[in-house]
Amino acid sequence: MAPIEWVSLITCPHCHHESVATMPTDSCQFFYECPKCKTRLRPNPGDCCVFCSFGSLPCPSIQQDTHRSQMNQV
Ligand SMILES: [Zn+2]
Repeated sequence: MAPIEWVSLITCPHCHHESVATMPTDSCQFFYECPKCKTRLRPNPGDCCVFCSFGSLPCPSIQQDTHRSQMNQV
């Protein structure tokens, strides 16, 4: 059983600054403020949190739900 990744790389859609953020273990994070341009990011429609929309990884709850279908991505 592969461990869940908790640290995601969020790419700001405005200034394209990449920042490392640790995902909350028990909830989704709806807002994220870009440390460079101070834009408050919100998830895209249909996404549950900013990590799913802008992060390098989907949030932990998504990772758990879709883990099996993403096993072939290495
Ligand atoms: Zn930014």
